Amino acid sequence: MPGETMSGGCQCGKVRFRVTGPLGAGSICHCRMCQKAFGAFYAPLVAVKPNTLEWTRGTPAYFQSSNHVRRGFCKDCGTPLTYEAPDGIALAIGAFDEPAKIPPKVQFGVEAKLPFVDDLAGLPSHRTENDPEAPAFLADIVSYQHPDHDTTSWPPEGGAQQ
Ligand SMILES: [Zn+2]
Ligand SMILES: [Zn+2]
Repeated sequence: MPGETMSGGCQCGKVRFRVTGPLGAGSICHCRMCQKAFGAFYAPLVAVKPNTLEWTRGTPAYFQSSNHVRRGFCKDCGTPLTYEAPDGIALAIGAFDEPAKIPPKVQFGVEAKLPFVDDLAGLPSHRTENDPEAPAFLADIVSYQHPDHDTTSWPPEGGAQQ
């Protein structure tokens, strides 16, 4: 996707970013630090060139997770956003507005891979609308999550919108 502009941000919308130019290869990292930082089984990350990354609303807060690496996140909602090392910066793929465009191509830290990860695709699977309790839950749900596109102001006056 050379030259393409890709946007994204945290769940609450206080931090937004834009990448102008090609992304590196998408990856997942199984290392224990990435598991912790994402609260997840592994971390989905994509490398970006620093001069192609712009924070368009707010900026991340940081946790220095080692002497070499700091990790950026939204201090208001906790969304993991960056992995920043001396040799480069990577963004959390799930924070992009269109994460489906950034498939992972390589795995790192596989010595720490959790033993069930390779079996996830075979687990019993359910669609939300097939849950008998879903209609009532969904009927009056109000999302406060920022939509998957840039907004001129956020949060909207008068309540959430999509
Ligand atoms: Zn946030
Ligand atoms: Zn890692």
